[in-house]
Amino acid sequence: MNIEKEYFGQTRDGESVHRYLVEGSRGASVALIDFGAIVQSVRMPDRDGRVDEISLGFDSLRGYLDEHPYFGATVGRYANRIANGRFELGGQTFTLASNNGPNHLHGGVRGFDKALWSGSPVQTETECGVCFKLTSPDGEEGYPGELQVSVLYMLDVENRLTISYEANTSRPTPVNLTNHTYWNLSGAGSGEILGHQLSIVADRYLPVDESLIPTGELAFVEGGAMDFRNPLEIGARFDSVEGGYDHCFVLGDSASEIPRPAAILRDPASGRLMRVSTTEPGIQLYTGNFLDGTKGAGGKIFGRLGALCLEAQHFPDSPNQESFPSTVLSPGDTYRQVTIHEFSAA
Ligand code: BGC
Repeated sequence: MNIEKEYFGQTRDGESVHRYLVEGSRGASVALIDFGAIVQSVRMPDRDGRVDEISLGFDSLRGYLDEHPYFGATVGRYANRIANGRFELGGQTFTLASNNGPNHLHGGVRGFDKALWSGSPVQTETECGVCFKLTSPDGEEGYPGELQVSVLYMLDVENRLTISYEANTSRPTPVNLTNHTYWNLSGAGSGEILGHQLSIVADRYLPVDESLIPTGELAFVEGGAMDFRNPLEIGARFDSVEGGYDHCFVLGDSASEIPRPAAILRDPASGRLMRVSTTEPGIQLYTGNFLDGTKGAGGKIFGRLGALCLEAQHFPDSPNQESFPSTVLSPGDTYRQVTIHEFSAA
């Protein structure tokens, strides 16, 4: 295992950004940058040992400074949507930015993906990675309380990428963190992911309204386009999902202490497989429906359905939905989330 730190560019405020390249086994590597605590690159071998880029990203900092669809980003303070950018907590109404139609999305105009985190390399005998830390001020983007956040990325000798989050607050606040990496196990920019096979350990999902806010119902997946209990090609029932998959699947009624199996993504063409387990009660499947041909790393074009996200998280709009597991973090308590991505090829 090896880690190298290099200069990656400058923010518009003139602050230096660094890239950390973590090397795993059989040519695998993961690159992270301290701007947005972003996963900038994931390279994994296929069944013949051929190593390819399997996540969407940019070669240089510039792409990350501008608007982009959260490539590889750490998303917070609240990943996914909060209806009408508003919620009540402790008898007070809080107003957030509405940056997605009427709703608040992924932490607002300047979410954690646009913050410069402070990174430090971490190395043990079997794992290597980076711990990123950030202080989100009281009132940032409308959220109450100063939040101390850390995200630890560790790659081990088995090519397992573990992402561990922690947060503490000075006032009660909703917290919902996730990683927004876009995966194409055939290779970033190689075309649509409709041929990927997916299974999700969920017998229920959250139906949404036209602005993608959950209706509150936990619907059974049984037999429909949302039924990924057995491996299913993404393209198999895609046409019956209006707009494409952008839904949260229910992994459990609450968060769990230790990660539980959540999803398996397999690409028959390359043989690459990614197994996801998480402590979170939900996982958002987003099939890159809004990707619009952004030019990314290596000059590759990232078009619609060119990658998919599997975002481990709490349910969208939880601050407004009493029946959903709570996302409120109180002073004295610690938010914890662990999500593991295990890569192999056969
Ligand atoms: C959301 C999509 C959104 C995308 C990029 C996903 O997490 O579910 O609706 O378009 O992020 O912002």
